[in-house]
Amino acid sequence: MANDLLITNCSLLSEPGGVIGHRSFVEIGAGRITAIGPMSSSPEPAKDTVIDAAGKLLLPGLVNAHNHCAMTLFRGLADDLELATWLKEHIFPAEAAHVNPEMVYWCTLLAAAEMIRSGTTTVADGYFFSGQAARALHDAGMRAVVAHGIVDFPAPSVPDPSKNVTTVAAFLDQWLGRSPRITPAVFAHAPYTCSPQTLRRAKELADQQGARFFIHLAETQAEQALIIDPQGSTPVRHLAELGILDENCVCVHAVWLDDYDLDLLADSGAAVVACPHSNLKLAAGIARIPDLLGRGISVGIGTDGCASNNSLDMFREMDLLAKIMKLRPLDATALPASAVLRCGTTEGARVIGLAEVGTVAVGAPADLIMLDQRSPHLTPFYSGDLLVYAAAGSDVTTTIIDGTVVMHDRQILSIDLAKVYRQVAPLSEGVRRFAAHRPKPAVPVR
Ligand SMILES: [Zn+2]
Repeated sequence: MANDLLITNCSLLSEPGGVIGHRSFVEIGAGRITAIGPMSSSPEPAKDTVIDAAGKLLLPGLVNAHNHCAMTLFRGLADDLELATWLKEHIFPAEAAHVNPEMVYWCTLLAAAEMIRSGTTTVADGYFFSGQAARALHDAGMRAVVAHGIVDFPAPSVPDPSKNVTTVAAFLDQWLGRSPRITPAVFAHAPYTCSPQTLRRAKELADQQGARFFIHLAETQAEQALIIDPQGSTPVRHLAELGILDENCVCVHAVWLDDYDLDLLADSGAAVVACPHSNLKLAAGIARIPDLLGRGISVGIGTDGCASNNSLDMFREMDLLAKIMKLRPLDATALPASAVLRCGTTEGARVIGLAEVGTVAVGAPADLIMLDQRSPHLTPFYSGDLLVYAAAGSDVTTTIIDGTVVMHDRQILSIDLAKVYRQVAPLSEGVRRFAAHRPKPAVPVR
């Protein structure tokens, strides 16, 4: 479909918590929104470039601020385990055996299909063979920040850990400026898998190249005891002591924070990504998102890899985040739906370094989704809060990224899904055989 487009007769939610404009139009040209308004002022449509969106709600595409896309291959491989066992006894061995360039390309495409079908237009990925992930997300038509992983042990695309930072430097050189939709970045896995020296070098590289720096941080209560050569008494203080905690640092999870950590984060300008499903499934804990937002810290929302979720549906993620945050203080006002929707769109985009994205405004990139409002669970539709508390990814009918329609009437136009299934099938057979020969985790019977 052509890049220039006119969407007519839609209901329009241009910003979270805003008023829904009924019978509106949105005009798109060269990948950006060129005009918005009521149908009475709609421009004359050119042939073949009109989508009649009567009965549809148009809103910004969702931003998944933390994912390991290729882990679609490991969905359901090891459930009901705490983080250390899950990671060391199941995920790391499976990755060592099955992660290769081909796997990353096809399994990232599989993730892209799931995300496009559930209304995510932008994703921040962190994994290995990131050139293949970048290629897959580019081919899928998605907007993405693709961060190459760094650990201090042999990794799938970096068998020699002494080359971990230089490998990422080469990836940045390859992808900086190559695609307007793909932004390369740096992903230091965690302070318990990266030494202080590695963390410093990785952050220096990110800063020098103007690339975003991501790190899993303060995910579990046990993390502090596992940190390699701790420089502070908490994971946040460790990063602060290393000089890493600043406005170019994105802390993923940030569950276990004391009040001083919160102040350090706020003063540093670092951002946080909340991954509520992953934190609950791995029994990591419940983050202090209202406290973070209350201190002016930017917060995005991520699904994390779908092996620890097990879904990439951001509607599901927003619903859980809004509800779970009410539980700790027993306060139903602790985190309103509109604030969560903001974290899932504009704020999430800002967190991952794409400040222009996540909004429906003239001049903004045209990353938009449409939901079918003619559904029992979305009738009546009084406010955008319903998007958090009732809507699901399966309500999304149309996904537009960079002005291009990548899904319409739930048919993905940018990915040959049948081919993806064909390519993933033998890969998953290999994982099935691998899992069958591994010792089963002991499941306590209570
Ligand atoms: Zn993660």
